[in-house]
Amino acid sequence: MTTSRTHEEPGPTGDSSRGRAFAIGLRHRFRGITVREGLLVRGPAGWGEFSPFAEYGPREASRWWAACREAADQGWPDPVRDRVPVNVTVPAVDPERAAAIVAAGGCATAKVKVAEKGQDPSEDLARIEAVRSAIGPSGRVRVDANGAWDVDTAVRMVRELDRFDLEYVEQPCATLEELGAVRRRVDVPVAADESIRRAEDPLRVRAAEAADIVVLKVQPLGGVRAALRVAEACGLPVVVSSAVESSVGLAAGVALAAALPELPYACGLATMQMLTADVTTAPLLPEDGSLPVRPVHVDEEALTAVEVDASAWRERARAAAAVTSS
Ligand SMILES: [Mg+2]
Repeated sequence: MTTSRTHEEPGPTGDSSRGRAFAIGLRHRFRGITVREGLLVRGPAGWGEFSPFAEYGPREASRWWAACREAADQGWPDPVRDRVPVNVTVPAVDPERAAAIVAAGGCATAKVKVAEKGQDPSEDLARIEAVRSAIGPSGRVRVDANGAWDVDTAVRMVRELDRFDLEYVEQPCATLEELGAVRRRVDVPVAADESIRRAEDPLRVRAAEAADIVVLKVQPLGGVRAALRVAEACGLPVVVSSAVESSVGLAAGVALAAALPELPYACGLATMQMLTADVTTAPLLPEDGSLPVRPVHVDEEALTAVEVDASAWRERARAAAAVTSS
């Protein structure tokens, strides 16, 4: 089953032993990393991406592998829309920089990072004020605290920031219990992101009445079909987000967003700009605030330019494939 050749051609099936590894620089540090790495596998339906973060063991990575195999072997369900609206993301920067990012993003929705360690709440207020003014009264502004607030701080901050009319607040606190407590005390809808890491989590979010919206990512949930089942079972509006993949992995997120029966919110899929290169000559970049729903073709030259030795990644894929998915 394992063929060892020095130069691997992409194989006819989604087989880890033939995958090709990439390493692409990030423009800014993200989750503590500066390089995004993964394995690309070609199958009868196209290319799939397997790019679990380094800390994930085989069990967790097995879902990422299932998502890769789905893309390579099966392809995705038919889309019900041909474009997917996306948000521009504003890091915890000063107001001038925040306004410039919104203006350059060309999106009708901005997601703004708040509750940054070492910053004062007044900096969040100034940033949101600048974003609201840059995006205009009809634009949507959501905030993401990445679980950093306690309940009282979250309630106070959300009420204060809502003076600039918030679309929702993403993961204000760390736990489901805290999210539920915040949700009962504020009028702004609450979205769960970090609380959702596996397929059963959205159901827990719903059971705990902890959020109004769930943020779903394709690879951690095991593929587009698996994510669609999760969305249906959980019955809450979905915001599709990326795991900062190459355009190959991003295409799976777009496929999920395109196949959802309802898509009331802009998605967090405008992340190609975070990478310094791509594996295609036609990256999935937003135009006029949305991404096209279309296949991504890997370009040999582009892939070769970011290609690294694949042996460790193939080993990770084999270990992930060996885990019987629950
Ligand atoms: Mg988030």
